Formats: sequence, structure tokens, C-alpha cells
Amino acid sequence: MPKLATFLDLQCQGHTLGLYCATCDRWGEADLDKLIESGRGNGSLVDARFRCTDCGTLVDKQLRPPVPAIGGARAYIRTAVR
Ligand SMILES: [Zn+2]
Repeated sequence: MPKLATFLDLQCQGHTLGLYCATCDRWGEADLDKLIESGRGNGSLVDARFRCTDCGTLVDKQLRPPVPAIGGARAYIRTAVR
């Protein structure tokens, strides 16, 4: 199981970090490149806190795995036919 403890871990493994402000009902995404460039790459994901840029509320974090590439395979779910 790969380790996902820091911002660097996330970036190296193609994950992103979604951020949700319940007050504004708004989603955003952490700028991993900027965090790492500013020397916070080894910062703990669990301990990291982000604030909404609009209202200043602490936001919820959501770990997002890499989206698989879209292949040419047929979808495995069919529309039900009566
Ligand atoms: Zn907000």
C-alpha cells in the first residue's frame, strides 16, 4: 500500500486534494505545486488546514485518486431494455 502522508506523496502518486467549504457550498483543489515549491512538500496531510478564500472558514479535505485514462473499451453497464 503506497504511503499518502504528505503533499509530496500525493503529487508523486498522481493524487489531488479536494477542498470543500460547507459555508459557501463550494469545491476547490489544493495547489500542490505551489505548496511543494514553498517548502511545504513534507507537510502532513492530516495536520494541514486550509481556509476558504471567500469566507475564511476551515474547509474539509478530500483525497482524490488519479482518474483512469479513458480507453476505447465498451461500457459494461447497459441501458435496460424492456
Ligand atoms: Zn467559504
